[in-house]
Amino acid sequence: MTKRFEADYDVAVCGGGAAGVAAAIGAAKAGAKVCLVEKYGFLGGAATTSQVYAYCGLFQQGVEPKRAVAGVAAEVTDELKTHGLDGEAYRSETTGNWIVLLDGEVLKFALDNLVRSYGIDVKLHTRVASVARTADRLEAITLAGMGGRTRVAAEAFVDASGDANLAMLAGVPFQIGDGEGKLQALTMPIRIGGIDRDLRIDRAALQAAIARYNGKGAYPIQRTDGGSSSGCPCRTTCGG
Ligand SMILES: Cc1cc2nc3c(=O)[nH]c(=O)nc-3n(C[C@H](O)[C@H](O)[C@H](O)COP(=O)(O)OP(=O)(O)OC[C@H]3O[C@@H](n4cnc5c(N)ncnc54)[C@H](O)[C@@H]3O)c2cc1C
Repeated sequence: MTKRFEADYDVAVCGGGAAGVAAAIGAAKAGAKVCLVEKYGFLGGAATTSQVYAYCGLFQQGVEPKRAVAGVAAEVTDELKTHGLDGEAYRSETTGNWIVLLDGEVLKFALDNLVRSYGIDVKLHTRVASVARTADRLEAITLAGMGGRTRVAAEAFVDASGDANLAMLAGVPFQIGDGEGKLQALTMPIRIGGIDRDLRIDRAALQAAIARYNGKGAYPIQRTDGGSSSGCPCRTTCGG
């Protein structure tokens, strides 16, 4: 594999999830030349790769949704509206949180449009593979992509990898879990197509199925209340 040098950037962001997109756009708005690196073929992070199909935390809890986070998050929800999602706050019946429902494919497209509008240099199918550093600072990162390896220098680097991958490569101290090695329990999202959008999920039946499985399953499901469910919010591109 050949190793090439590219033009320098002011800011290089590792990871194209919610944090990486926000960091990249924030830096571009401040006038920086920005490179955004994502190992998968699309942006969104957990919201697209892991089917976490709701943005939580943009609104305060309460009877009415009161916006708590604006900025890039509001630009993302506005962009979603131009692609057929309503981008409004819905109250989750299980948690009481106000959430914005997503469709993964629409979100990928909306994020592509948004970062392109800010002139951000997005590198998909590309991972930050190693770093070059002095004692005090990162000097460059090596990107491994479909075309081989590329070395990118920048004035500032953002670790938005979701799991401190850049910090690990740079040899910066980090901790896994809560200090006792405990990690947050996994969520198991599933997406079902071909059913009526207005069909009501029978929570009692779901709870009974989970109880039956937990009676004999090797890996009991910790959340026994039937979880959260939502109809596909997309009004134009999906039939779910
Ligand atoms: C079990 C669970 C349930 C959750 N449920 C919800 C929910 O319902 N609603 C909600 O809003 N939030 C939820 N969250 C929280 C939400 O998932 C996170 O807050 C959010 O994903 C954090 O965004 P991020 O951009 O920091 O990381 P991520 O979304 O993880 O994005 C990181 C990105 O970096 C990329 N990457 C990693 N390493 C490299 C590398 N070396 N080179 C290039 N790219 C790299 C990854 O591919 C990924 O795209 C949940 C989290 C968990 C763990």
